[in-house]
Amino acid sequence: MTRLLTKPRGRLTEQAPLAPLVWFKTGGAAQWLLEPADGDDLAAFLAALPADVPVMALGLGSNLIVRDGGVPGVVVRLGKGFAGVRRTDAVTLNCGGGASGVLVSSTARDNGIAGLEFLRSIPGTVGGFVRMNGGAYGREVRDVLVDCDVVLRQGQTITLSVGELGYAYRHSDLAEGAVVVAARFRGIPGDPAAIQAEMDRIAAAREASQPLRTKTGGSTFKNPPGHKAWELVDRAGCRGLTLGGAQVSDKHTNFLINTGSATSAEIEALGEAVRDKVRTAFGVDLQWEIKRVGNP
Ligand SMILES: Cc1cc2nc3c(=O)[nH]c(=O)nc-3n(C[C@H](O)[C@H](O)[C@H](O)COP(=O)(O)OP(=O)(O)OC[C@H]3O[C@@H](n4cnc5c(N)ncnc54)[C@H](O)[C@@H]3O)c2cc1C
Repeated sequence: MTRLLTKPRGRLTEQAPLAPLVWFKTGGAAQWLLEPADGDDLAAFLAALPADVPVMALGLGSNLIVRDGGVPGVVVRLGKGFAGVRRTDAVTLNCGGGASGVLVSSTARDNGIAGLEFLRSIPGTVGGFVRMNGGAYGREVRDVLVDCDVVLRQGQTITLSVGELGYAYRHSDLAEGAVVVAARFRGIPGDPAAIQAEMDRIAAAREASQPLRTKTGGSTFKNPPGHKAWELVDRAGCRGLTLGGAQVSDKHTNFLINTGSATSAEIEALGEAVRDKVRTAFGVDLQWEIKRVGNP
């Protein structure tokens, strides 16, 4: 396949282990890992890539199970060239697709822009937030997104407004293989001290309720209409349930954790076991929020 790939200005690595790049610290390698120099580099690379080669973007891997057989095709990881955040008007930030939620929310605070505090608590990148419609504490990306720049699988760069993303709860209609390279978020004028206080409140609430310093993938299942996923998992008797090195968190039952030696297969099988127990107990079919990618 090497012959079929054009050389990017950035970095292209064959058989690149993905476990170190994702929160669970499990899973196989990317057939190819592309770290493009900038958006033009990415667009030119994808335009020249044979149409049947799959492409997947990777952020901080905070909502991802990479299966043990690895990911075929090209995994795109946005590095330093995509990590910037700058103000474009009094209440709007232009953010690189690889910028972290912490950087976006702290830049908003420094510029007196309120309403983006919730991004402080979601440990992902702008690209991941935009694809997943990430949200917390009553707000989600569709509430603050103006538009985003996307490089499509075929290499065209387009700008999509928030209304064109087909947003629903933890879902967008962003095309398969599309990579979000930048996004504009809009807030409202605010006092930096009050914004900081809200960020502190959110950080403390997180600390109290989630297993933050573990190998995990965030919320495992979407909340079914009228229910909280964690409550169904708990009431089905799954708190602390283990399978190999995988465990349902004792602290937050909608989190799965790798206790040290888990494989991705064990984590996924534990998730399926939880789904079975909840279905049997309550007749509710939990849907995965975590994306599961690659070959078993
Ligand atoms: C401790 C913890 C707490 C969490 N709390 C929350 C929470 O409160 N609310 C919430 O919504 N989520 C939460 N999450 C989940 C996760 O942080 C979010 O889903 C986040 O949006 C994922 O961002 P990421 O950049 O790490 O994406 P990844 O996990 O790397 O990828 C997730 C999906 O986004 C796609 N993607 C990533 N980057 C791009 C890009 N540039 N362009 C296009 N697609 C892309 C991937 O292909 C994949 O489909 C939590 C996770 C953890 C570990």
